Amino acid sequence: MRTLVRTIGEFFTGDIAAPMAPVRSLLIEDGIIRTLDPGSGETAERVLDAAGGAVLPGLVDGHVHPVFGEWTPTQDAIGWIGNYLHGGTTTMVSAGELHTPGLDYANLTPDLVTSLAEVTRATTGRMRWSGVKLHAGTVLLVPGMGEAHFDRLARAGVGHAKFIFYPLARGKDEAQRYVRWCRERRIRVKVHTGGVSRSGLSQVCGYDILAWLDPDVAAHVSGGPIPMSDRDLMRTIEETRFALEICSSGNDRSTLLAVRRLKELNRLDRLTLGTDTPGGTGVIPRGMLRNICYLAGVCGLGAAEAIAVATGNTARAHGLDVGVLRPGAPADFLIAAPVEGSAGATLGESIGHGDLPGISHVFVDGVAVVDGRSRQTPPPATPGRTLDVMLTGCCGCD
Ligand SMILES: [Zn+2]
Repeated sequence: MRTLVRTIGEFFTGDIAAPMAPVRSLLIEDGIIRTLDPGSGETAERVLDAAGGAVLPGLVDGHVHPVFGEWTPTQDAIGWIGNYLHGGTTTMVSAGELHTPGLDYANLTPDLVTSLAEVTRATTGRMRWSGVKLHAGTVLLVPGMGEAHFDRLARAGVGHAKFIFYPLARGKDEAQRYVRWCRERRIRVKVHTGGVSRSGLSQVCGYDILAWLDPDVAAHVSGGPIPMSDRDLMRTIEETRFALEICSSGNDRSTLLAVRRLKELNRLDRLTLGTDTPGGTGVIPRGMLRNICYLAGVCGLGAAEAIAVATGNTARAHGLDVGVLRPGAPADFLIAAPVEGSAGATLGESIGHGDLPGISHVFVDGVAVVDGRSRQTPPPATPGRTLDVMLTGCCGCD
């Protein structure tokens, strides 16, 4: 099945180094992007007219807390992943399945956390939920783990590890060994930062710990929910090199400080996004869109920069092959446009104003999993639509 998307008004690449490109059509085949602006000799079975709207990568929520598939006990909700898909999220990374009912944070053992990651990877982490690529089975690191535990995790296909309950202030040598063991197995390491979380037992973490731990991603540096001090935040931005995550659960004031400083230093490549939900902050289907609008409407990023942070940057920091629209990449993308009544004639202008976009289509691996109308955003003023064409030349210029 080959699908042509044509009459694209704006094309957001997801690549922070070149976040927009003058692409007007897109050819998809076998789940991947075959060609940008294909020539007139190409054919397609389906043609989708973007009606001058925007194409952007599917959003990558770098910080979610799944438990069992579409069910989360956290806010007694079901169907949350499908609802997030309609808010534009096509990939999610678990920051730990710590809301599993009955989990005793004060008595976690190496075998328990390893088993929990294995089981989650083999159940929730194995399936596509509503089409979303959910990377679940993230191990919650605890003291006393041996290399054999990390071998088990690698065999299970676990790709992510998290320091949250680990007493980092006391376990420097062991924690550094864990980071090394993870890197040897291509497991990305994330660490909770800031004050105590809803669990009441997460460890406080600021610059002094981050400087020696050197994780792959420092989670919610502007709070999740409580941020580190302004001084620690600035030192973390100025004196370290790893990825820095901003979440919906954070402190908007600290987010503003962090994003402005990263922009000043020309280091937006380090910035990643997540919602840190489901959790005490709630279940937020439009959370990633709201993050983009906040970065662009308030924090001074261009719309294309904010989109690249929410897509290519976040995917790269977590070792994922999605988030950038280029030939050979998975065809995970959105078609969106300003909502009627919104400021701006283009998606970039409306996002720059801080306005929520309207989504008409969500594609995952070349399949339209939202086809014509998102149930979570208002409709775009000029929605994309499928044309009644079975086989056509596909230069996109007719
Ligand atoms: Zn979290």
